[in-house]
Amino acid sequence: MENQTVRTRFAPSPTGFMHVGNLRTALYEYLIAKSQGGTFVLRIEDTDQERFVEGATDVIYHTLQQVGLQHDEGPDIGGEYGPYVQSKRKDIYLPYAQQLIKEGKAYYCFCSKERLASLHDENGLGGYDRHCRDLPQEEVDKLLQSGTPWVIRQKMPIEGSTTFTDSVFGDITIENNELEDQILIKSDGYPTYNFANVIDDHLMHITHVVRGCEYLTSTPKYNLLYEAFDWEVPTYVHLPLIMGRNADGSTSKLSKRHGSTGFEDLVKEGYLPEAIVNYIALLGWAPKGTQELFTLNELAQNFNIEGISKSPAVFDYDKLTWM
Ligand code: GLU
Ligand code: ZN
Repeated sequence: MENQTVRTRFAPSPTGFMHVGNLRTALYEYLIAKSQGGTFVLRIEDTDQERFVEGATDVIYHTLQQVGLQHDEGPDIGGEYGPYVQSKRKDIYLPYAQQLIKEGKAYYCFCSKERLASLHDENGLGGYDRHCRDLPQEEVDKLLQSGTPWVIRQKMPIEGSTTFTDSVFGDITIENNELEDQILIKSDGYPTYNFANVIDDHLMHITHVVRGCEYLTSTPKYNLLYEAFDWEVPTYVHLPLIMGRNADGSTSKLSKRHGSTGFEDLVKEGYLPEAIVNYIALLGWAPKGTQELFTLNELAQNFNIEGISKSPAVFDYDKLTWM
C-alpha cells in the first residue's frame, strides 16, 4: 500500500488489563502513524461476549491517555473522540456475510453443538467436516424458516496454499487444508472476532496492521477474507515475542512470575509512565543512532518499521529501573 495516508489502529479485546505486550502494540501502531503524519485509531474488539471482562475497556482507555497515545478520530462522547466499539457496530457485519453467501463464497451451517462435538471426538482435531457446505437451497430455506439456529461459514479453499509477506517476518505460507471453513457470524448474531476485524480494517481504511507474532499463523484466514471481497490487504507488521529473565539468567515467555507485567502495577511500583514507554519502545525496535532516552515525540520522529527485529525481545527489570 504505497502513496496512501498511513492509518493504523490499536484493536484490543477487552479481556484483561494492559500488559507490556498490549502497550507495545499500541505504541508501535501510534508511532508508525505519527512518524509518517498518519492517523491512529482506537477500536475495542468486544464481539466475543464470553471473554468480555467488565471494566477492561476503561483500563485500556485510561492507560493510553496516561501515556499520551491519543487517538485521532472516533464517535463523539461529550465533545471528545471515543473509541470505535464493535458491539455498538453490530449491525454492520451481517450484510457483508450475506453478500458472500449470495456470491457462493459462504453458507449457513445448521450443525448442532452436539454434532460438532462428535466430530471433535472422531478425528481429535476439531476440524469442521463441511457438512452444510453444499446443502440444497430448498433445505436451507426450510431450516431457516423453521428457526433452526445457524452460523455463517466461509468456504475455504480445499487445495493449495496461502502466502503473505510480513514486514518483519518475511514470507509466511500456510497449507489451505489446515484451515477449516471459518465462522463469520455466530449463532448469537455477533460477528466472530476474525470477521469483524477484517471488515473494520477495511471500512476504516487501515494501511498497517500491527500485532503480536502469535497472529502470524492465523493471518492467512484474514487474507482469504480480503480475497473473497476483492479488497486490498493491509501491510502486516507482526511483533516479536517478549521474554522475561529467569533467576538463572535464561529467558522464557514473559509472565507474572518474572514480576509485574501490567502497566498499572509498574506505575504503582514507582516507574514513571515516560520511562515505561521509552523502555517498551526499545523492546523489539532498534533506533538508528546511539540515543537511548526518548520522549514520545522523539520516538515518533525516529520510528521506522525497518528497525523492528524479529528476534524475541527481553524485558529486563534492571534496565527499566535506571531509566
Ligand atoms: N483484538 C485482538 C487482540 O486483542 C487484536 C488483533 C489485531 O490487532 O488484529 O489481541
Ligand atoms: Zn454444518
